Amino acid sequence: MKYSVSTKQVTIGADEFISRYRDVERIRQFCLQCPGYGKAWNCPPFDFDPRTVSDGFKTVIFIGTIIEFDEETRAACTTPEQATSVGRQAMEEVWKTLLPKMHQMEREVPGSRCFTFRCILCPEGCTRPEGKPCRYPEQMRYSLESIGFDITKAATDLLDIRLDWSTDGSLSKTITLLTALMCP
Ligand code: SF4
Repeated sequence: MKYSVSTKQVTIGADEFISRYRDVERIRQFCLQCPGYGKAWNCPPFDFDPRTVSDGFKTVIFIGTIIEFDEETRAACTTPEQATSVGRQAMEEVWKTLLPKMHQMEREVPGSRCFTFRCILCPEGCTRPEGKPCRYPEQMRYSLESIGFDITKAATDLLDIRLDWSTDGSLSKTITLLTALMCP
């Protein structure tokens, strides 16, 4: 498997980011269709208003990390299962290096909060399906979509990235991970 990784980012006022892209009720309808709904503590449903997580910041650094597969890798995926497996593996690899970077950015800006992709803090699996509390509530971070942001629209408008969904079972040319740092 061969792929390259590139990054695009933009800084925008938090009020503008929220007014243009936060739509909690509409985005929750998409979450309801996800097989992961309610299976991890960083995913909805929440027992609090998710707006409170992104309220109170001044600026947002919105980041797109683009994984681009080479043609040979794409051609080698001859079944939807292979395409899914290769896509997942690449995302896991990139996420393992991106997540520590997001936490590092957060540490460098006191009072900031990072918004990540999915929680990988517990290799043994999330405690939520067992009805037990989160193991690391201080370290766990939410994704932008889980708290109601339309990241597809934000990526198009702000980063000129069109999320590349495969509709025929092939491996898409790119997979983009969208993250953010919200700063006071
Ligand atoms: S830290 Fe562990 S228990 Fe908490 S949300 Fe992440 S995977 Fe689940």
